[in-house]
Formats: sequence, structure tokens, C-alpha cells
Amino acid sequence: MSGQLVQFAYLAAAVLFILGLRNLGSPKTASRGNLMAAVGMAIAIIATLLNQGVVDYVVILAGVIVGSAIGAVVATRIEMTAMPQMVALLNGFGGGASALVASAEWLSYLRGDEEPSGIVPLAIVLGVLIGAITFTGSLIAFAKLQELMGGAPVTYPGQQIVNGLLGLLLLGLATGLVLDPSNMNFYLGLLALSSLMGVLLVIPIGGADMPVVISLLNSYSGLAACATGFVLGNSGLVISGSLVGASGIVLTKIMCDAMNRSLANVLFGAFGAVDASVATADAGGAQGTAKGYTPEDAAIIFSNARNCIIVPGYGMAVAQAQHAVRELTDLLESKGVGVKFAIHPVAGRMPGHMNVLLAEADVSYDKLIEMDAINSEFPETDVALVIGANDVVNPDARTAKDSPIYGMPILDVDRSGHVFVIKRSMNTGFAGVNNPLFFNDNTMMIFGDAKGVILALTESVKELV
Ligand code: NDP
Repeated sequence: MSGQLVQFAYLAAAVLFILGLRNLGSPKTASRGNLMAAVGMAIAIIATLLNQGVVDYVVILAGVIVGSAIGAVVATRIEMTAMPQMVALLNGFGGGASALVASAEWLSYLRGDEEPSGIVPLAIVLGVLIGAITFTGSLIAFAKLQELMGGAPVTYPGQQIVNGLLGLLLLGLATGLVLDPSNMNFYLGLLALSSLMGVLLVIPIGGADMPVVISLLNSYSGLAACATGFVLGNSGLVISGSLVGASGIVLTKIMCDAMNRSLANVLFGAFGAVDASVATADAGGAQGTAKGYTPEDAAIIFSNARNCIIVPGYGMAVAQAQHAVRELTDLLESKGVGVKFAIHPVAGRMPGHMNVLLAEADVSYDKLIEMDAINSEFPETDVALVIGANDVVNPDARTAKDSPIYGMPILDVDRSGHVFVIKRSMNTGFAGVNNPLFFNDNTMMIFGDAKGVILALTESVKELV
């Protein structure tokens, strides 16, 4: 395939990536967007394979077979609730691959190949630096999410100073390697300290801040790929890497807003100061007596309600209760109860988690209302039905300054007439903090697996009329 044709294929792929991203912006067009981006990637891969620069197809084929087999098995086996870990690992491998490719280019120069020129030395350094940070940072994020290590932030005195000094050292090593590309010590130092930096940047982050770090690492993996694109002179990789980097930053900003953290805090790694409170916070702050109700009791209140807002959370995903929830919604609507869904941006374990589940159960998109739009409706709502959500409805986020989730915008369910909370126990949610909502006068707990409770509630509502 001629060089010009390859470049044209990359351009077509880039257009498809951009259109794909555009379509991913709305649930209605998201599957089309996904397909467009996948076709774009297929075009980019085929164009790269047909490029005259390819020296050995056997090695590539072996990599494709092994990688596809592992990817297919993992993708089919992974639980939806474990997606953040999976995404963290994929980000990490992307960063690691970029660091390896950049290192291979650098080593080939040391072996006697042509000296890298122009932007290439800088791109090699950035590929190693960002790739290694992404790799080790993502492994720590994976370990935290998979509960292989404690999820709470790890903080120590002078943490920001240590990170700052390490940052300066990395800057010095990076500059040294650009100016003196044959210096092995600079290279090894850069690789080792970048890997350390990834660990140190992520350990102070924990609890409810994890969504922010995942999207940030996603962005880093894109930037590392972009740098590698410059190393290899591959414009397809430059474009796709920069799109991942940019969209990751946009998602990070959305997540920051959802968690009420500033992007500057994220970018300069100042999480430690914020999260120190998590380590010391008293998870047992909320106290009182929670009232346990049965689905039959709840059905009576539903039969007298005019409207209801359903608040889905991680527990709905664990119980796979979305289809049962859809049936309850249809039933309530057939009995004249208006039903809407309140969607918190970080509900569940991945961005858009609740939208995906409810779309799978054919709940119409216009019933899904974002937090900012629906919060003013809770005071006029007869019943708020919280299904396996906890942190996203914790009123301590509004008032308790010592709470690790203080400042995080929440769904104001406590302002509704009645609040039903379906969960299995009084256990805490992801952030590990108790929830005073459960002890409010207008809150009624229905203990049990979300799917079982919703099915029982549906039966009871049916029997009432
Ligand atoms: P939470 O994790 O706060 O709470 C979920 C609740 O669901 C638990 O308290 C649990 O209580 C209950 N639950 C679990 N299984 C079941 C079941 N089978 N049936 C009924 N209830 C069940 O979830 P939220 O959605 O409220 O908040 C999401 C949290 O996750 C936030 O802190 C967010 O920052 C974090 N996060 C979000 C990510 C994202 O991108 N969206 C990524 C990573 C973290 P019990 O055990 O008593 O049943």
C-alpha cells in the first residue's frame, strides 16, 4: 500500500473516530458511535499492517492471536460491576505499551541505528515518562478497586513536597535525556522514577475520588500513545492518542464537577490534602434507629402516591434488578403514578453505568433525568425509591465538614415526602462512610437483594388494586 494511501486511510479513520465520539455523546446514538469508532480503528489497523514498513508479519499475527484471545475471554467474563478495574488495567497496558515502544526506539538508536532527530527525542522521553506513570498508576488503581489493597488514601507528612521534588527530578532527567540521548543512566533513571511517580500519585487517592483518577489515567494513556505516534511517525496513532487524551480530560472535568473537586487539584496531584480526611474520618458518624419495612408496607404508600422518583445505584447493578425495575415502573404508571429516574454522574462504578443498565431494560431515555435537573423536584415528590444507592444520596455531603464526601453534590432524596431505601444491610457504600439518610423520620429501609425486593413490591402493588 502506498504511503499516500496509508495517510488517506488514517484520515478516514480520524474522521470516523471524531464522528464516533460525537455520537457517543447521547445514549440514543451511542451504539452507532461505538460502531463508527470500531470501523475507524479497523481501517487504521489494516492500513498500518499494509504499510511497507512492516518487517515481520509472523510476530504481529502471534501478538494479535494471543491479545485477541485474552481480550475476548476477559471481556465476556467480566462483571459489569468490575468495569472500573478492567478499564484501569486497559489504561495501564496502553501506557505500558507506549513506554515499551518508545524504549525500543531508543534502544535501537543505541544499537547503532540513525540518531533520532527533530521532535523524536522529546517524543521518546514523553512516551517513557507518561507511559510508565500510567502503567504503575493504573496498577495501583486496579489493586484498590479490586480490593487487593486498602481503598483508603495512603497519606504521609510532606507527601506533596516529595511528589514535587520527584517531579523536578523527572524534569531534569527528561531534559538530560533529550539533550544527551546516549546516556543510559538518564534513561534508566527516567524509567524507574516515572514508575515510582505513578505509584505515588495514585496512592493518596481513594474512596469516592476513584472515578476521577480512572478518567485521568485514561487521558494519560492517550497522551502516551500520542507521543509514541510521534516516535514512530504514525499519524494514525498521533490522532487517536490525542483524541483519547482530550476526551479523557473532558471526562475528568465532568467527574471533577460531579465530585466537586477542581481540575487543578487533579492535575497537580493535590488529592492528598483533600483526602487526608478520608483516612481519619469516623465511618460511624451517623447514628439512630433505622426503620425496617416490608415490600407489602411500601406498596400501600405507593398506591396513594401521585409521583415517584427512582434513584438507582451500584446495588441495582449488583442485583441486576434493572428489568424488574422497568416492570415496576410500567405498573406504577399504569396506576397513574408519575415515575422518573434520577441519575447521579458517579452512581455505580463507571461513568454512565446507570444509563447503560436502564437502556438495556428499555427504560425510555426521557425518563432519565440528570442530577442538576431533578434535584428541585424532590420536595414535590411523594416517594423517592432508592435502589442500592448509598454515597450519592448521603446528606452528610451537604453538611458534615469532616466527612470525606463533604462537598460532593448529591441527589436530595431526603427532601421527598417518603424515602424507601432498598439494600441488604446497614453497610456503607464505596466511600466507606455511614449515611444519616437511613435514620431520618421519613426514611423506610427495605432490607434485601434489590431484585427480590422490587419483584415482591411489584406483586404487592398489583394485589392492592
Ligand atoms: P455505593 O457504592 O455508595 O452503595 C451501593 C450500595 O448498594 C451499598 O451500600 C450496598 O449496601 C448496596 N448493595 C450492594 N449489593 C446490593 C444488592 N444485591 N441489593 C441491594 N443493595 C445492594 O453506590 P452509589 O451508586 O450510591 O455510589 C457510587 C460510589 O462509587 C461513589 O462513591 C462513587 O464515587 C464510586 N465510584 C464510582 C465510579 C463511577 O465511575 N461511577 C467509579 C468508581 C467508584 P448493602 O451491602 O447493605 O446491600
